[in-house]
Amino acid sequence: MELPHNLGKRVGILGGTFDPVHNGHLAVAEAVRQALSLSSLLFIPAFLPPHKPTYSISAFDHRVAMLDLAVGSKPGFSVSRLEAERVGPSYSIDTLRTLGQILGKDVHLFFIIGMDAFAEVFTWKEKGELLDHASFVVVGRPDQCQQSCAQTVAANFAGYSFDEGRGSWQGKPGQGSIYPVTMVPVKVSSTDIREAVRQGGPIRDRVPAAVADYIDAHGLYR
Ligand code: ATP
Repeated sequence: MELPHNLGKRVGILGGTFDPVHNGHLAVAEAVRQALSLSSLLFIPAFLPPHKPTYSISAFDHRVAMLDLAVGSKPGFSVSRLEAERVGPSYSIDTLRTLGQILGKDVHLFFIIGMDAFAEVFTWKEKGELLDHASFVVVGRPDQCQQSCAQTVAANFAGYSFDEGRGSWQGKPGQGSIYPVTMVPVKVSSTDIREAVRQGGPIRDRVPAAVADYIDAHGLYR
């Protein structure tokens, strides 16, 4: 499995469908990189997202190509095809296990998710074990982050309590932490963009120019 060299010791993981990648994803990545001083950030598109309704998802290669265009030139950001190499749905736990094996114990993984996705964590495969492999970074609006996060942690992760000094929830020694990161929301979703393209509306205010050009050139979402 190919991974970029020099990821450093604090590696952020942003998984998603990325159909297409948009400015909200990029803003999240940048905010978390700064908040937690990450050495690098890996975007990992899901080959077969387990939690998406069955609208016809664009080919994996299109989604990767758009990610490459969006993040390829940003230092410290890269795109991984890790989930293409697995048969069946892309589960986060499998991805984190694989990354842990490749990168080794010295590298700390930070698994980034939106508050909305975190609230659905009870549906995830082997949710308790996720924290054996990574810390979570939960990104939410300033008004919702702490309280919603606290409710979800209490309901799903026994033994975790908030440590004021570290600004994160801590479990047993050796387990990952859960960090809340607040950011002003960027009002955009991939669904909005697919819908705008279908209606012939503008999208260049919400995706990088190279991604908009790619969508045009390949006739995606029409
Ligand atoms: P869709 O509209 O197709 O459901 P999406 O825009 O939510 O897609 P995903 O690829 O599913 O994009 O998202 C990947 C990750 O990025 C998820 O953790 C999601 O919560 C987060 N995310 C997506 N859009 C935003 C946004 N505007 N602000 C903050 N986080 C976001």
